[in-house]
Amino acid sequence: MSFHYIKEKDFKAFLSALIKAKNVVGPVAKTSRQQTRFVFSRLENPDELRLDYDVTILPPKKEFFPAKQDIIRFDGATFNGCVEPAEKVLFGVHYYDVKALDMTDILFKERHEDRNYWAHREAATIVISNIQKVSPRAFWASIGAEVPPRGHDAWMTRIADGYVFETRTAKGEALLGCGKFSAASDAQVKAAAQANEKVGRQCPEQLKGTSAQIAKKVRAAFGREDLWKKFAQDCFSCGSCNTVCPTCYCFDVQDWWHVDQKSGARTRTWDSCLTEDFAKISLGAGATENFREERGERFRHRFMRKAAYLNEKLGGPACVGCGRCSAACTADIADPTAVINSIPEA
Ligand code: SF4
Ligand code: SF4
Repeated sequence: MSFHYIKEKDFKAFLSALIKAKNVVGPVAKTSRQQTRFVFSRLENPDELRLDYDVTILPPKKEFFPAKQDIIRFDGATFNGCVEPAEKVLFGVHYYDVKALDMTDILFKERHEDRNYWAHREAATIVISNIQKVSPRAFWASIGAEVPPRGHDAWMTRIADGYVFETRTAKGEALLGCGKFSAASDAQVKAAAQANEKVGRQCPEQLKGTSAQIAKKVRAAFGREDLWKKFAQDCFSCGSCNTVCPTCYCFDVQDWWHVDQKSGARTRTWDSCLTEDFAKISLGAGATENFREERGERFRHRFMRKAAYLNEKLGGPACVGCGRCSAACTADIADPTAVINSIPEA
C-alpha cells in the first residue's frame, strides 16, 4: 500500500490516458425532466466523469452481475457456458458500494463459486473516490462502521489542489503509469483522511444502535405480525427496493428458445423478494404454495435478511446505508432507518 498525489491540472490527462488504455466505467450524469441523476457507464471522454455525484441509480454490482445475463447457450444437443469477462476499471466508486461488493463476493463464492460473477469480478480494477456530495437518504456512516471496504484496488481522495491516490494492490499500482503522480506528503495523506472522516458527519439519516443491537432487536420482532403488517400496508409489492439495492443478489433462471425451437439460452435475471410470486412454488398438477403470501411477511423477510440473518456470514449487516431503497420506493416506506429505528426494543 502506498500513497501518491496528482495535481488537479494533471487529472484530466491521467483520465484521458486511462480511457485510451482501458475500458473505464464511472459515474456519469443522466438528465431527464430537469432532474439530474447518475449512472455507472462506460466513459468515452474524461469530461463525462462526475466524481461529484451523490449516489447512482443502480449500484456497480451490475458490472459483474448484470440485471440479465445468459449463463448457458444451447443449440440442439450442444450447449456452452457464457463466462465472458471483459477487463475494466471501475472508477469513482463510493466506499459503501465497495462494501456491498465485498458481500456479493462472499455470497457468490460460498459453497459453489459462481464463475459468471467471479470472472467479471476478477477482470476488474476498482478505484474508490471519496464522497464529495451526500445523497438525501444516505445513512452509510451509521451502519456497519466496524466493517471497512476491502475489495478495492485504490482509493482516491480529492483534497484542496489535487487528489491523493492510495494504492492497495498491484492492479491499483498499475494505473499510476497513466498519470503524473508523485509521492504524497504526510500533510496530503492527513488531508485525505480528514476529508473522508468529515463527510460521514453529513449523512442526513442515521440508524440507532450498533449492528449487534440492531440484529437482536429486528430478530426479536419477528413474531410481531401486527408491526410488519402496519409497515407494509402501503406496499405495492413492486420490488424496486430490491432492484436498486447493492446487496440484493437473488435471481431467477429461465430457458428461452429461438423460433427454430432448437437454440436458445438459459438466462438469469434479478429477482425481488418483495414481489408477490417470489416465494411461490409449484406443487404439481396445477397446485401452488406461497411461503410469503402476505405483504407484511415479505416486508419482514427483507428486513430480517438485511439486519439479522446474514450478519454472521458477512461479518455485519447486509445493508450499507446507500439510501437507494428509500429513494426508489413510491410509497416511501422502504427506508431502513425509519423502519428499524421505530421497531420497539424487546
Ligand atoms: S417497500 Fe416500496 S419499493 Fe419495496 S416493494 Fe413495497 S412499494 Fe415497492
Ligand atoms: S437496504 Fe436500502 S440502504 Fe441498505 S444497501 Fe440496500 S438499497 Fe442501500
